[in-house]
Amino acid sequence: MRNKTAIISGGAQGIGKAITKRLIEDGYFVVIADINLENEKLLVKELGSGKFLFIKCDISNQEDVESLFSKVKSERESINAVVNNAGIIKDNVIWKMPKEDMDKVIDVNLKGTWMMCKEAAKVMRKQNNGRIVNISSRAWLGNNRGQSNYTASKAGIIGLTRVLALELGKYNVNVNAVAPGLIDTPLTKNLPKKVIEKLIEAQPTKKIGKPKDIANVVSFLLSDESDFITGQIIHVDGGRSIGSTIF
Ligand code: NAP
Repeated sequence: MRNKTAIISGGAQGIGKAITKRLIEDGYFVVIADINLENEKLLVKELGSGKFLFIKCDISNQEDVESLFSKVKSERESINAVVNNAGIIKDNVIWKMPKEDMDKVIDVNLKGTWMMCKEAAKVMRKQNNGRIVNISSRAWLGNNRGQSNYTASKAGIIGLTRVLALELGKYNVNVNAVAPGLIDTPLTKNLPKKVIEKLIEAQPTKKIGKPKDIANVVSFLLSDESDFITGQIIHVDGGRSIGSTIF
């Protein structure tokens, strides 16, 4: 019997899929909020049925997010964990970036995460219990040219996480962020080979991360083991956030 419920946005692919799998292993019933119904069929084949529910939800759409939470509330006893993982990139230097690409990235990555957090906060505050993990990016530090929109969205998630940790702490709700470095997923597979090589070179560990590396940390942040941790940013980036060196 799976008594604990976790909602994960973008949980059908890449890092999100690894988190879905890990949370199922951890005993959660997982609600995946994602947009591509084709991925639902693939997941049923891979994971079987009964352990997760796929709800089509564009997190940048307020109605979708509200109806996601009302459906989960009506079907499950409680919502123990929410992982805000869905995110997109639309890279370009600012002088070539159409405003629509700024709007879209902020709408999904930042406002979408904010709306998910708002619905989660309403439920968890009443429950007097819950965990929220927001997936930011190492890029929040602002050292990737061409990512002014993405960096603003991911830095926004850091600020959001810290404020929510303050607002929700006394309700027994911990809110943390994970900031991944370069991870091997469909999002990064189309990056030019040269860019990938440079990014790997910039990491002290000289390797690309696996989705599982992020899932392990999310699992810890949702567990009782991390009870005294809130408002924190955990970089999972092979050391890239240490910064560059000339020696
Ligand atoms: P991914 O492979 O593209 O997977 C993202 C998932 O989110 C996909 O299933 C995608 O669906 C879904 N999604 C996109 N827009 C959505 C929306 N509006 N509402 C609901 N679901 C939506 O990406 P990933 O590499 O696993 O990245 C996951 C998260 O980690 C993102 O927030 C990303 O910014 C962050 N991150 C990734 C890396 C990396 O190197 N991969 C590094 C740092 C941070 P479709 O594919 O159908 O669009």
